[in-house]
Amino acid sequence: MNQERFFTFYKFAIIAIGCLCLGYAIASLPDDAISVGFAIYLVLSFSFAPFMNIKLPRGNLALGFSDSLIFLCFLLYGGKAAIIVAAVEMLANCISLKRNGMQFRKWLVHFNVALNSISTLITFGGLLLFLEFSQLDLNSADTSNLLPVLGVLAILQFLSSSAIHSPASPNFRKKPLWKIWQEDFFSGSLAHIAGAGIAFVAYKILNYGSSLTISIALILIGIAYINYRRTIADINESIEQAEKAERDKTEIEKQKADEAKRHASELEGLLEKEEEISQDLRLSKEELEYSAYHDSLTDLPNRAYLMERLKFLVEMGSTLSEDYYIVFLDLSRFKNINDIMGHSVGDDVLKIVALRLRRALRDEDTISRLGGDEFAIILTNLSSMEKAQKVVNKIYDTLTKPFMVQGNKIFSDLHIGIAPLDFEHIKPEDVLRDADIAMQHAKDKNLGLAIFNKEIRASHLERIRLEADLRHAVERSEFEMHYQPLISLKDGNVLGFEALLRWNHSELGLISPAQFIPISEETGSIIPITNWILRETCLQLVEWNETLPDEKDFCVSVNISGRHLAEDKLVRDVKRALRLSGLTPKLLKLEITESTAMDNAEKTIEVLHELKSLGVQISIDDFGTGYSSLSYLHRLPFDTLKIDRSFVMNADQEGSEDIKILETIISLTKNLDKKVIAEGIETEEQLSILMDLDCDYGQGYLFSKPVSKQEVAELIRDIRPWLSRIDPSDFRTPVSEIELDRTLQPF
Ligand code: C2E
Ligand code: MG
Ligand code: MG
Repeated sequence: MNQERFFTFYKFAIIAIGCLCLGYAIASLPDDAISVGFAIYLVLSFSFAPFMNIKLPRGNLALGFSDSLIFLCFLLYGGKAAIIVAAVEMLANCISLKRNGMQFRKWLVHFNVALNSISTLITFGGLLLFLEFSQLDLNSADTSNLLPVLGVLAILQFLSSSAIHSPASPNFRKKPLWKIWQEDFFSGSLAHIAGAGIAFVAYKILNYGSSLTISIALILIGIAYINYRRTIADINESIEQAEKAERDKTEIEKQKADEAKRHASELEGLLEKEEEISQDLRLSKEELEYSAYHDSLTDLPNRAYLMERLKFLVEMGSTLSEDYYIVFLDLSRFKNINDIMGHSVGDDVLKIVALRLRRALRDEDTISRLGGDEFAIILTNLSSMEKAQKVVNKIYDTLTKPFMVQGNKIFSDLHIGIAPLDFEHIKPEDVLRDADIAMQHAKDKNLGLAIFNKEIRASHLERIRLEADLRHAVERSEFEMHYQPLISLKDGNVLGFEALLRWNHSELGLISPAQFIPISEETGSIIPITNWILRETCLQLVEWNETLPDEKDFCVSVNISGRHLAEDKLVRDVKRALRLSGLTPKLLKLEITESTAMDNAEKTIEVLHELKSLGVQISIDDFGTGYSSLSYLHRLPFDTLKIDRSFVMNADQEGSEDIKILETIISLTKNLDKKVIAEGIETEEQLSILMDLDCDYGQGYLFSKPVSKQEVAELIRDIRPWLSRIDPSDFRTPVSEIELDRTLQPF
């Protein structure tokens, strides 16, 4: 039987036996007990029993003096009456406890009442045996009899009630019965002994005291009882307060502990978050660092990275055991790829270049993209310039191999400069600058590779000087225009001139345009210079047309730089020159090289249309060198096409293919209904070839070199000195007709 079932059984068994006991007691109550006195006693017992419990300080122990009512009843009315009193007294106690708020189950009232009845019956039985054996009288007031009787009553009542109570303990079967009895009930024996004592005193007073004595005794007992209760209540209260303070303290401690725990867990959360954040920060820092030092397109290290590395090497200086070489690499015509094929093809070209460089070089070499189409490489641990040159030649070969990008076959060309890292270098920029100078040199000289040396540096310094001096050349009146006549191949007449700039440097003397024009284009000074040229030549032409009345309608060709064309101010500048000079717009021709025109064909077409709307003429210069797209050529609003000197130069050579090219260009131009001019005619044979090919105009040393403005007047007055050297019959149109035919037709 498990504990619960046993307890249920036990509980009902006790209640049942208790009822029997009580029933037996009531039924067999002796006649002398059935009295008014006993009735009053019962009422008093019911009324006072609840007040006869004193809860001792600390613990659950309460001294129940109500047992004294049972013991006194034993003495006054006998055992059966005591059983009834026991039941009543217990009932009163339970009711009182319930009223005072104690929570207990309903059956517990019955159980306690039954238990008290049973234990009192057992006590009664035990007492009868004791009296039997001891020959003592229960009703004897003799103290010597009374004490042992009450003692036996107290012991029996205690033993019987505790014995019946033990199996109802929650510890029953968990602990030995003896242990349960000792822990839970032994202290209760005190209540029985005290109860016996009170019953003794009460019995003595009832039997021997006068009403006065009884009253005094009752008053004294009452006072003592009240004082005692108050003292106990005070003690209980202060204990209660102390316990409350302790409980509060514990509660505070607990709250503190909970708070600390909460803080700890919050802190832990915060630390975890912080850890996550710092992890993220670390990652983004690494990413930032990486992107700060890398080029996003090619994933190569960038300029900043290269500079850091160069800085380190420069600082190491003489301690470096091996030689280092800096390579500067620039892709030619990359801008064309971007403009013509689009930026996506341009990007792919750069990626392929980066890939090829990676493959061609060792891991320890630093390859970086400086920006645009410029790359720089640090060649590490090479023992000589020859070895560095070998590596660079390998790079050149790799990169000049054609490659396919988005269905386009790309032929890339490049210029490379190499500079050794030496002790003279103080800053990393110095090393890179040397390699850049060498690359610029390679570009200027149209070489694949140039090695930095003192001469290159000197020419670079000279270039820098020219750059600076160019800015002041106009105000120092160092510029002068030279004019080269343009000849009609139909009649040998001068139709006009090409204005060619000459720079007479105050210290360096005459400087060739081939030398300073590219510099002025790069620095942008070509724009103010061209504006000066436009003004100068237009005014000059107006003057000639006025002062040389017979030769009125000369035209002038002015070369326009690509840089100026790209700026939106060209149309405005030309307009201003025409307005200032008063020159008829038709007499001004603007020469734009084929490569410039094709650099940004759409923009060129747009600007040329605007220029044409001013009434000026357009000539495409150096034709045949600029990779024209025929579709664009068709859309360009030009008047004349000027065949590059390189095709004319070799045309008179034995078995030259250039005649075919000349023929093709001339017929192409005619098909487009434009005029064609050949430049660089130096020999009579070249002239005759061009005349046979029906070329419209010619320009070259054969007719005249470019001459100063003073010489032009002589040239004109002298009337075509070249005619004396050329058989006029060779010209298709008779000279006499030419004189008549001179008009303002485009040339
Ligand atoms: P370009 O516009 O093609 O000019 C023709 C060049 O060929 C001139 O060189 C001229 O002197 C040269 N030339 C003409 N006939 C012959 C010949 O029979 N044999 C040889 N060997 N050369 C001949 P120049 O004056 O040295 O000019 C060179 C280039 O510099 C020009 O080529 C032009 O591109 C540029 N340039 C000259 N003056 C100016 C200018 O005022 N403005 C701009 N933007 N460029 C100019
Ligand atoms: Mg020209
Ligand atoms: Mg030319």
